[in-house]
Amino acid sequence: MSTFTDDLTVANEWSMKALALMTHNKIVPVPANYEVWFRYASGQAVDLTEEIDRRLREGKPVDAEVTSELHQRYVSQTALADAAMETGDKLGTEIDKILKLVQSAAGDNSALGSSVRAASEGLTNKSSPTDVRRVVEAIMSASVEMESRSKALELRLTETKSELSALQTNLSKARNEARTDGLTGVNNRKAFDELLAQEIAHAGAEGTQLCLIMGDIDHFKAFNDTWGHRTGDQVLRLVASCLKGGAREVDHVARYGGEEFAVIMPGISTERAEKLANSIREAVQARELVKRSTGETLGRVTMSLGISHFRAGDNAGSLIERADGCLYTAKRSGRNRVISEDSKVAPVAKAS
Ligand code: GH3
Ligand code: MG
Ligand code: MG
Repeated sequence: MSTFTDDLTVANEWSMKALALMTHNKIVPVPANYEVWFRYASGQAVDLTEEIDRRLREGKPVDAEVTSELHQRYVSQTALADAAMETGDKLGTEIDKILKLVQSAAGDNSALGSSVRAASEGLTNKSSPTDVRRVVEAIMSASVEMESRSKALELRLTETKSELSALQTNLSKARNEARTDGLTGVNNRKAFDELLAQEIAHAGAEGTQLCLIMGDIDHFKAFNDTWGHRTGDQVLRLVASCLKGGAREVDHVARYGGEEFAVIMPGISTERAEKLANSIREAVQARELVKRSTGETLGRVTMSLGISHFRAGDNAGSLIERADGCLYTAKRSGRNRVISEDSKVAPVAKAS
């Protein structure tokens, strides 16, 4: 990670400012949150600072949930960029090594050529058998030398190849980590944004169907207040596993933020998406929750889900907004239900 400063006084100042801001915004000073606010306090992370300032200007909260999203977007991504840079540097070194090897091999080749040329120039049709033997021996020894050099080159290239593939594995691991939600293991918001844009482009170009499910755990605040945040986290993992279990192989399950999840379902009718959403909803409701540490029974949680169906001209914003609208209707009409754009329910007016 980049170093912001080596100056103790400056770092202390930023640190105090970060802690004060976190206290003010009621944010727990755990490392991930601290990292976001320290960056903000330093004023050196331009995008992050602009986004926080904009939210504050618009009177929007910058709470724990927003901090976690900011961490995903600005800190994890920066870590990925650092990892990519590091990998890029290593690749550069490996490529330099290969170039040197290839250049020295080319040098060897021309050395062999010139020894053959030099030897053959010494031959005329009057040369004696002894002269010919001497020349042949010279050529033989040059080519034996050449053979052993190319063996060494081959060996070095094989080693380099395995070093390169280890670097490639590292890079794709870093890329996966930067796209995965640390708590639940499903796609994070960044991956969701990319996947939704891709699927929308595909549906628009091919004229195929696409559904988006937005789901939100019911009364989750009360659950957290009763059983604690850590047990709440366990529930988030469980809900993610129900979503994974109910979605098809081609679907993309993501944590949209906080206790909201999304499933992008390509090539599917609203009716089928609704069936799958209902089976997910039932799976969540069916799981009896048990506190791991004590074995205590905690009851059950339920989930409400809204579904939108892609229309020509839709973008990510409009598709999300309609799924959200359906989710809102599901909440207002009693929770623990699925509402799609085709559901025959009167939409519930949003409170302003
Ligand atoms: P509703 O049925 O209307 O959705 O009610 P709700 O209580 O679920 O909704 P609200 O938006 O008021 O509360 C969401 C809660 O989700 C508040 C917050 O504590 C909790 N939450 C968000 N992210 C996390 C997390 O990462 N872990 C845990 N344990 N809780 C979280
Ligand atoms: Mg919510
Ligand atoms: Mg909720």
